[in-house]
Amino acid sequence: MAKIFEMPPHLADLIAAGEVVERPGSVVKELVENSIDAGAGSVTVEIKNGGMSYIRVTDNGSGIAPEDTETAFLRHATSKLRDQRGLEAIGTLGFRGEALAAIAAVSRIELLTRERGTREGTRLTLEGGRVTGRAPAASPEGTSMVVRDLFFNTPARLKFMKNDRAEGSNVTAVVARLALSHPEISIKYVKDGREEYHTPGDGRLQSCVYSILGRDTAKSLLAAENVTDGITVKGYVSTPAGCRGNRSWQFFFVNGRFIKSRLLQTALEQAYKNSLFTGRYPVCVLELDMSYAAVDVNVHPTKMEVRFSDERHAFDAVYWAVRGALERESAPPELEISKGTLSAVRGAEEREAPVSGPADMEYSNHGPAGRSLGGATGGFRTRVPAVSESRSSLQVSEPHIAVYGQTHIDMPRVNPRTPQGEADGVPERGYAPGTGRDGSAGGADTKTADREHSKAPEDAARDPQARGYRFIGEALATYLIVERGDSIILIDKHAAHERVIFDTLRERGYEAASQ
Ligand code: ADP
Ligand code: MG
Repeated sequence: MAKIFEMPPHLADLIAAGEVVERPGSVVKELVENSIDAGAGSVTVEIKNGGMSYIRVTDNGSGIAPEDTETAFLRHATSKLRDQRGLEAIGTLGFRGEALAAIAAVSRIELLTRERGTREGTRLTLEGGRVTGRAPAASPEGTSMVVRDLFFNTPARLKFMKNDRAEGSNVTAVVARLALSHPEISIKYVKDGREEYHTPGDGRLQSCVYSILGRDTAKSLLAAENVTDGITVKGYVSTPAGCRGNRSWQFFFVNGRFIKSRLLQTALEQAYKNSLFTGRYPVCVLELDMSYAAVDVNVHPTKMEVRFSDERHAFDAVYWAVRGALERESAPPELEISKGTLSAVRGAEEREAPVSGPADMEYSNHGPAGRSLGGATGGFRTRVPAVSESRSSLQVSEPHIAVYGQTHIDMPRVNPRTPQGEADGVPERGYAPGTGRDGSAGGADTKTADREHSKAPEDAARDPQARGYRFIGEALATYLIVERGDSIILIDKHAAHERVIFDTLRERGYEAASQ
């Protein structure tokens, strides 16, 4: 007797549903992606009870022709993929032609749609994947899909659902990701009758960030940008002070698709090294663009994970984009307070100098108070090399020192245990490898150098005293107070110590063990 038989389609749909439709958030994601694929300019998402009892996604996209409405719910039915070549070109959006079939298999659906340019719409209803009604109906152009009673016919799955609140938060996160990756689409999100988000759809990422993360966060973000190894990174990151107690506001998008990536998360957080306290995490909205060949999106059924063909390149692209943003932020103050005078914009020329190539850009450095997203509303305009160039050609005449709340981004070399200016045995180096901030032009005055260190010119260059730093004292058992020229510098001992260790390890060629 034959033991192998073909699964009935309904069973196959249920199994597929388990993969595609994990929870209300995945339904919302699939429906909104369909709306986006249909060319919608605005999409409204409404949920009740965390999406368990009610989800409605309405768009003003292409709509569905009456004769296609039922077909759309068949497994492997798609209007988007005609052959294998199409599969390679898909790039980001996960067309698999099974979302609607899978959602329909585990819910009650009401579809109301009218194809663009036609006069009559269609209403189609399904229950557990079976069509229960279809009739012509009045409808605005576009599509509205109502999904009720998710998992009503799969009690085992229903049991796995968290409470409505948790499912609702997941939907909220899903909508936020979709909205942030599609600034060109106006997305409205209504949860239990309350409007949570409404993005304007003006094509500007900062408008989305403003709508989704809120005004205060948006105002304190720094623009990040970098192009290397064929990867373009663009977006926003928080200042060290603007970091949060969790990672829920770290958004990475690859070719327009939200992804979760430990690799990119590590790159982001490494860029903040020495300027973050444990338990604080940066906020970011970073979009990576790269060739479709460089990234495989088909690793995971719900496609939140990707595989980069060159992980190092992806890591570097993010790392340098973020470092660039932070370094511009920590650039020396353009107003220097010296004895009795205000000498403006020192250092601007030096930073402007050795730029080669077309990539330099205008960057407006407002102090922390005047910082604003996208808008130049004050402060001095100076030219700073683009991030990608700052790695190799940015020459700065002296180390930059900045205070961020209680932490430092860049600091002169002081050994915290021998604050009177003992060289710490570590060659002078910039904050991160290759930043070009070698500090060698730091005006080392060998005449005033401690005799002990004047043997080798190198030693003199790394001697804080020789470079004009004078240790004054300590405050709050935390900060070293150092004078240099007309400036006073506060150094967080703890951060400085970590930095010394960090540089020592680097110097020894220590490679962090990683998996
Ligand atoms: P896929 O999106 O992978 O093609 P789906 O099951 O999600 O598969 O959708 C099946 C088809 O239904 C789509 O290819 C599209 O033609 C049609 N469709 C679904 N949602 C919409 C929508 N909101 N507007 C217009 N057409 C839609
Ligand atoms: Mg789809």
